[in-house]
Amino acid sequence: MKIHEYQAKELLRQYGVPTPRGVACFSVDEALTAAQQLGGSVWVVKAQIHAGGRGKGGGVKVAKSLDEVRAHAQAILGMQLVTHQTGPQGQTVRRLLVEEGAAIAREFYLGMVVDRSRQRVALIASSEGGMEIEEVAAHSPEKIKTEWIDPVAGLTDVQADATARAIGLPEAAQADVRAVLQGLYRAFVEKDAMLAEINPLILTADHRVVALDCKFNFDSNALYRHPELVALRDLDEEDPAEVEASKFDLSYIQLDGDIGCLVNGAGLAMATMDIIKLYGGSPANFLDVGGGATTEKVTEAFKLMLRNPKLQAILVNIFGGIMKCDVIAQGVVAAAREVQLTVPLVVRLEGTNVELGKQILAESGLPIISANNMADAAEKVVAAARG
Ligand code: GDP
Ligand code: MN
Repeated sequence: MKIHEYQAKELLRQYGVPTPRGVACFSVDEALTAAQQLGGSVWVVKAQIHAGGRGKGGGVKVAKSLDEVRAHAQAILGMQLVTHQTGPQGQTVRRLLVEEGAAIAREFYLGMVVDRSRQRVALIASSEGGMEIEEVAAHSPEKIKTEWIDPVAGLTDVQADATARAIGLPEAAQADVRAVLQGLYRAFVEKDAMLAEINPLILTADHRVVALDCKFNFDSNALYRHPELVALRDLDEEDPAEVEASKFDLSYIQLDGDIGCLVNGAGLAMATMDIIKLYGGSPANFLDVGGGATTEKVTEAFKLMLRNPKLQAILVNIFGGIMKCDVIAQGVVAAAREVQLTVPLVVRLEGTNVELGKQILAESGLPIISANNMADAAEKVVAAARG
């Protein structure tokens, strides 16, 4: 689960990491009031969306007067902000962060991510912070310094100092850099993050280090023990189909192909998407209905897939282990009737009571294409989607 920059900075403050003072705003009036309250003569007006690359997309503007704050707030609020992370349709800006302006001397990059192969959190740092970090990673990887953090020892002073030295942070900032790195690491571990990023971490003209931007992505499997994080969830930033799916406890991920997949079990769902690709098709979604799918759940799953205007065909691939094939077949028939299916439906059933299940499908009177195995199912659904 991702959160907004202003929420991430609030979290950083709780862990002793310096950030600029700022106020989250939902209207142009609020933005003006915020700038007045903050005082000073330079402000930054920042679009709050969950995607990065806002600066390049025109979502981060420096204002040198209250008139400019108003103008930028007017331009950014409600805009469809397109960045390399939003896709071409962009994301509507509904919130702003108005901050005191910072005098930037240098920009650095800091990131933390769970490195599964080493079973540790990796601290990634670079002297080349700012908006071109992807370029640095691709073309000058030697400018990126990585430290792996021992979960028992935590991020030590020695590691923090080595990182600071490697990216050219001055000796005078050593104590502040330790506070930033160790604060970020504590936040990362205590809040069950999967990814955290401060880009840029700046050195100011008066030698302070400040987090000018911050992103967090938390492990959804750990949210049950963080109600304070769940409270920060912004459904406007999430895919509407995926939000709908989570209400029915369905694991649904929208993809960009045209063959809908309804499968029980995440592994079988992955294998189903693979075999569709193998036969030259393209899956429209990942969907795991779980082990105990009811008729209601299967119906909701069909509705979700049918929301997608690109959808050309549906493949139902069920292995009846705990669940019996006849129960699933009844669910599929009832769901197909209720949603008045408009695309071809291929069904592959295997497992307990499979013959009974197939009989129910055959006698339903619905134009269901029955398949005998996964390869047969994939071949049939790809043909159906094309035809
Ligand atoms: P991102 O593009 O989504 O990563 O958004 P950032 O918050 O990183 O902002 C993009 C860029 O705007 C930063 O790399 C800075 O160069 C610049 N920026 C952000 N805040 C300030 C500020 O307070 N003062 C100045 N001068 N530049 C800023
Ligand atoms: Mn940034």
